[in-house]
Amino acid sequence: MRLYRDPDNPGRLAFDEGFYRRIAAETGRRRQVLHHVVPIRSGYAWPLRAGQVVRLVAVEGPQVCDLNLWNLDNPRERFWAARSRQIQGAHVTALDRLWSCLPYLRPMITFTNDTISTEPTAAGGRCHDLLGTRCDPYLYKLLDDRDFDVTCHNNLTRAIAPFHLTELDVHDVLNVFQVTGLDPVHEIYFMEPSPARKGDFLEFFAEIDLLCAISTCPSGDLSQWGWGEDGSDPLAACRPIGVEVYELDGELLEGWRRPESPRVKSVYSA
Ligand SMILES: [Zn+2]
Repeated sequence: MRLYRDPDNPGRLAFDEGFYRRIAAETGRRRQVLHHVVPIRSGYAWPLRAGQVVRLVAVEGPQVCDLNLWNLDNPRERFWAARSRQIQGAHVTALDRLWSCLPYLRPMITFTNDTISTEPTAAGGRCHDLLGTRCDPYLYKLLDDRDFDVTCHNNLTRAIAPFHLTELDVHDVLNVFQVTGLDPVHEIYFMEPSPARKGDFLEFFAEIDLLCAISTCPSGDLSQWGWGEDGSDPLAACRPIGVEVYELDGELLEGWRRPESPRVKSVYSA
């Protein structure tokens, strides 16, 4: 068996981990420039400059949060869940990175800190999920013939509309604070309740200028299944998510450069 990325011998995927560890540790050398609490069952989008740090905080307790990322100047460059999964693993934590789609393929963010345990659950589930995607109204229609627009896809679409993006720009998400895995028999996706406690956070560093968007999932902490007609609306399992943006002391950024895309000669000619 050969790993896609050997953590002990990452080769050209190696980077200066100490740089990110310092950012995580030296919190006295940052200044908060944005603090916003995203209400339950809603979306929020915000621009982020390269070199800034974001904390997504479970401000009141467990809650799943769906994340999308675009290059602020070129929304065709967006986060690519499949390639990020191959390189980093199916769940992310500190010192993992999210990579952009082709033909860009560079780290968009690097995670600097994570207060959630990376230990698997009894069922083999892990947190911060790159396997699944967002909930969406098309699936509700397909499965239940139900018109239902309280989903992360709707929330993300509405959040990015002021930035002139549409639902076609919404892409596979990182499910922050969500525990998932694949069952060992069929390799079918499973979910478990979010383990986040009040104050838990996932923190990342922007490698390029970004537009970020999150949705506070209308299914809340995923402790309940089902929705609607039978009275199983998991409203009580829904909590807000805090977004904190920090500007770093310039000295902390010394030596760091925005990553560039690999230069490929041509994909059109032989
Ligand atoms: Zn959702």
